[in-house]
Amino acid sequence: MSSSPKPEVRSYRNYIGGQWVKSSTGETFPVYDPSTEEVIANVAAASSADVDRAVGAGRAAFDSGPWPQTTAQDRGRILFGLAAKVRENAAMLAELESRNTGKPIVEAEFDIADVATCFEYYGGLANKVMGNVLPVPANALSFTLREPVGVAGQIIPWNYPLLMAAWKLAPALAAGCTCVLKPAEQTPLTALEFASWLEGVGVPPGVVNVINGVGETTGAALVAHPNVDKIAFTGSAAVGKLIVKSGADTLKRVSLELGGKSPNVFFADADWEAAVDGALFGVFINQGEVCSAGSRILVERKIYSKFVEAMTEKTKRIKLGPPRERDTKMGPLVSKEQYDRVTFYLEIGKKEARLAVGGSRPKQFSKGYYIEPTIFYDVDNSARIAREEIFGPVASVIPFDGEKDAIRIANDTPYGLAAAIWTRDIYKAFRVVKSFRAGIIWVNHMQPTYVEAPWGGYKQSGFGRELGPWGLEEYLETKQVFVNLDETPIGWY
Ligand code: NAP
Ligand code: MG
Repeated sequence: MSSSPKPEVRSYRNYIGGQWVKSSTGETFPVYDPSTEEVIANVAAASSADVDRAVGAGRAAFDSGPWPQTTAQDRGRILFGLAAKVRENAAMLAELESRNTGKPIVEAEFDIADVATCFEYYGGLANKVMGNVLPVPANALSFTLREPVGVAGQIIPWNYPLLMAAWKLAPALAAGCTCVLKPAEQTPLTALEFASWLEGVGVPPGVVNVINGVGETTGAALVAHPNVDKIAFTGSAAVGKLIVKSGADTLKRVSLELGGKSPNVFFADADWEAAVDGALFGVFINQGEVCSAGSRILVERKIYSKFVEAMTEKTKRIKLGPPRERDTKMGPLVSKEQYDRVTFYLEIGKKEARLAVGGSRPKQFSKGYYIEPTIFYDVDNSARIAREEIFGPVASVIPFDGEKDAIRIANDTPYGLAAAIWTRDIYKAFRVVKSFRAGIIWVNHMQPTYVEAPWGGYKQSGFGRELGPWGLEEYLETKQVFVNLDETPIGWY
């Protein structure tokens, strides 16, 4: 087991209007370490009255607080200040993120570095928001003003807790919005630690509020609230659909990032070693709890058997272990609920396809929500394990014959978040790139994600884009201004 000492069970409140407040109902909920199944914190649950208070704080800060007077330069400096806090506290945040999610510490360290980079990126972008001057006739002047959309409700999942918070908070603050963030009930801890630095770096009270609780109550109250201007959501397609319906009553702006069933496509001419590695990395990183997981591995029939064999052998050597051990490559799943869900799909997979490796709970752990990295092969693309998002370390390998077949199978999914292709033939590579119906395409790699480049899906993987200037756009309105330069009356009546 991990050698680090057991931390105390801490209590956290909601962060509303710059204050740490208890729940109006006194209700709290436990937060777990999924590797030990022990409670590591108790967190105040935000009731609908607390949500109302948080939205009120965000509204007041947007409409009349010091925030609207803050210059873009100052907002940029504040974001740099937040990035610096994250870097100073990176070791603590990575440890806490790993403890709360079960992800290997080395991966958590990458996540936290990405959090800081995200705040730095949007800190730099804050004073580069510009409107346009439009070429209307000479007797008029027309231009656009870019203005913040208002109070943003932000609902995030548990797989990359603080990184998902950063992807939402950083562009919103750069744009001049105020925020009400609801972390996933399983993993609120790093966002709450982060909130403790807001005041110190100059974020005025009410500009960022963090409320805890379950989606069906706290999240739903935020989505329905008439004073919230926009909802940004990352999570399941099922909840995304509920959010669009509920948000429609108040015609909120909505952006959705909803995961998928992304194809990772291997042609016979791909670089062999890199390809086998890339297939496993694409689906098993972060225990497979990744919205862009390459969970459908499409392999050209000429190399199919050898490829399945090579993946299987390598998978047997993936080191599952306690998340804080540095050589651990796979930790437990995030929760009992997710463990049960993935186990359910393992049983379905055993009926639908052939099992190459994994398929059970690993024997060596008496506690923790561990699942063996699992490969099913000879999977038909119509099988449930090829169509439904499992969100765990489970790969479905599907053979194909040639380019047309690969494209057909790859696009035969309700989702369209990401796709990858492995080949040495650049003609083929770019033909396939153009044919994929997905928002993110990798060539000879899978998963690298940079804050400079847009992130988001086609089809039922959602709409809107995060990261880069696209991520900032989601938090901006466009105001058109027309100025008459001609003093003569209109003369119409
Ligand atoms: P989820 O229910 O979609 O959760 C995402 C976020 O939405 C959480 O903060 C959740 O709160 C909140 N939420 C849930 N119901 C809501 C509602 N009616 N109104 C407003 N907010 C609501 O996902 P999950 O339950 O954690 O995981 C279930 C499945 O979703 C996974 O197996 C996976 O397939 C998919 N998923 C996808 C992503 C992704 O990045 N695309 C991330 C996580 C999960 P709670 O924390 O209380 O649930
Ligand atoms: Mg949920």
